[in-house]
Amino acid sequence: MTNREHERALDLITRRGVEDVAAADAAWLESHLTACADCSEYAALANSTGRLLRAVAITASPALVATTQARLRARATYLQEQRSRMVLIAMSFCIGAMSSALSAWLWWRFGGWVARHVGLPSAIVEPGILLFLLLPAIVIAGLLLAFPHPIFEGSLMLALAREHEGEKR
Ligand SMILES: [Zn+2]
Repeated sequence: MTNREHERALDLITRRGVEDVAAADAAWLESHLTACADCSEYAALANSTGRLLRAVAITASPALVATTQARLRARATYLQEQRSRMVLIAMSFCIGAMSSALSAWLWWRFGGWVARHVGLPSAIVEPGILLFLLLPAIVIAGLLLAFPHPIFEGSLMLALAREHEGEKR
């Protein structure tokens, strides 16, 4: 017997349980199996494996399906929330950078005038720009400390996530 014949036999054994095999092929396989111990051993193994798989195959109960779906939905909401949070952080960053630039510009433009009127030395104007760059961040940080119940948590994020989900539908 040639290697080719064994290969053909193994191929037919594998396909037999899964798809239709032509009658001529099936007959050839049977005659090969009676003559070839190796291939018939493989065929027996393949048969018992198939039976075993069919025996342990379970159908998912409705409860399992429901729990899995609920978990998937929770996970999707969580990911959605994370994404919305990133958008909010990016927006906050832009607003912060813009207000920093604006307040620094205002000080650069009118700081000298303010210093003269309040009676501060004019040497304070230049270093003052740094203070006014940081001022919005300090104010925001102060507000966050003063109101430690962040509106960014929970409800707002959920609302953002729902809105996002609504857009897609
Ligand atoms: Zn063989």
